[in-house]
Amino acid sequence: MSTFENANSQFEEALKYMDISQDAKDILKASKEEMTASIPVRMDDGSLKVFEGHRVHYNDSLGPTKGGIRYHPDVTLDEVKSLAFWMTFKCAVVGIPYGGGKGGVTVNPKEISKQELERLSRGYVQAFYDFIGPDKDIPAPDVYTNETIMGWMTDEYSKIARAYTPAAFTGKPLSLGGSQGRSVATSLGGFYVLKDLVKKLGMEGKGLKVAIQGFGNAGYNIARFLHDEEYRVIGLSDSKGGIVCKDYCFDPVKIMGAKKSKGMIDGVYYKGTVHDEKDHEHVSNNELLETDCDILIPAAIENQITEKNAPKIKAKIILELANGPVTPEADKILADKGIIVVPDILANAGGVTVSYFEWVQNRQGYYWAENEVFEKLQNIMCNAFQNIYSIMTVKKCTFRTAAYIYATTRIVEAIEAKGTKEFFNGNSK
Ligand code: NAD
Repeated sequence: MSTFENANSQFEEALKYMDISQDAKDILKASKEEMTASIPVRMDDGSLKVFEGHRVHYNDSLGPTKGGIRYHPDVTLDEVKSLAFWMTFKCAVVGIPYGGGKGGVTVNPKEISKQELERLSRGYVQAFYDFIGPDKDIPAPDVYTNETIMGWMTDEYSKIARAYTPAAFTGKPLSLGGSQGRSVATSLGGFYVLKDLVKKLGMEGKGLKVAIQGFGNAGYNIARFLHDEEYRVIGLSDSKGGIVCKDYCFDPVKIMGAKKSKGMIDGVYYKGTVHDEKDHEHVSNNELLETDCDILIPAAIENQITEKNAPKIKAKIILELANGPVTPEADKILADKGIIVVPDILANAGGVTVSYFEWVQNRQGYYWAENEVFEKLQNIMCNAFQNIYSIMTVKKCTFRTAAYIYATTRIVEAIEAKGTKEFFNGNSK
């Protein structure tokens, strides 16, 4: 199955518990619009390289579409569409007035220079200018894009528009209209949800062991939050491999310090890896997922937990900070084993929530303090968690299906408010 078919099957599962119009089903099963563009970039050696970029607006029933831009060698239109699909449901889970979108460029950003990276990022905006905008579609960072890139993109957008337009992108540097708290928002949102779940399950205060796949924005920051409380981070990994420990726990700040000390590629990506650590046991990314722990946090890329490794997962809770890390086949195996999977559309929704705050602040020209941002984020995340947990308990379904039921109800209300077949035929809906 393609990643998009996997994503759609999660929605199909929720539909088994719902009675919604055929109109709404048909609208939600396909994307609204997709655009692919060639992005020509003048390379440092004088040659021209043409990169392929995509942007997908999956559904905009609740507002302008919103979603990150990914730079990765494996980016495809199918992946971007799947990520835009998840954004649609994620925004509805946290009740923010956005639809779902996503973008990507097929590139290994670590193999191009800083100047080439800037030209590519500005080229992306030139190619997609008519497809994005504060009231249309608002991009943000994702894998291998960061606030520096968002700053270049906002600058390019403003130049073409001939007007300062900070609300066109989120995840910007503070000096270019970013929001306090945005850089840690994805992890903090997931952390709030995890704490509430641990409390509900009566597991708190037990020095719970955590393994985290991916040591970037999402993985590193949640490792810090967990380490600062009573949790023990005993496994970490990045694209080069992982490290585990049995009798002690890692200090994520120290591990990141060592990774940073190896220097940066073009001032944007780290040369070092957690796998450089000499004093700890080395494992592959797959072994890390199967590590003996209480909580497993995939925070890298899609399709990491499959039917092959799901039977060997030992964690009691999986918190999906990455988008789509568990395949539908694996989901069934994990459910049978009694493992609770906190789905991506809730677990990592803190990022888009604070992106929304950033957009609101940009439009108001009035900026909030960090504690105000965190308080609002906590309210939204904990409220969504409570409501979804109740649905799970009442419907006796998985956490993921409960989250889809919750989100779908909101989106469908907006679709059906414009009229359905039943409405136009004189029936009630
Ligand atoms: P990032 O680029 O900051 O970090 C990605 C990390 O994953 C890096 O440590 C990288 O080495 C590692 N990685 C890449 N390929 C890997 C592989 N095959 N196996 C193991 N590790 C691998 O990206 P990020 O922003 O932290 O995003 C991580 C995930 O979180 C993605 O799925 C993204 O869509 C999701 N997410 C991020 C945000 C956000 O605000 N940053 C919001 C919502 C969801």
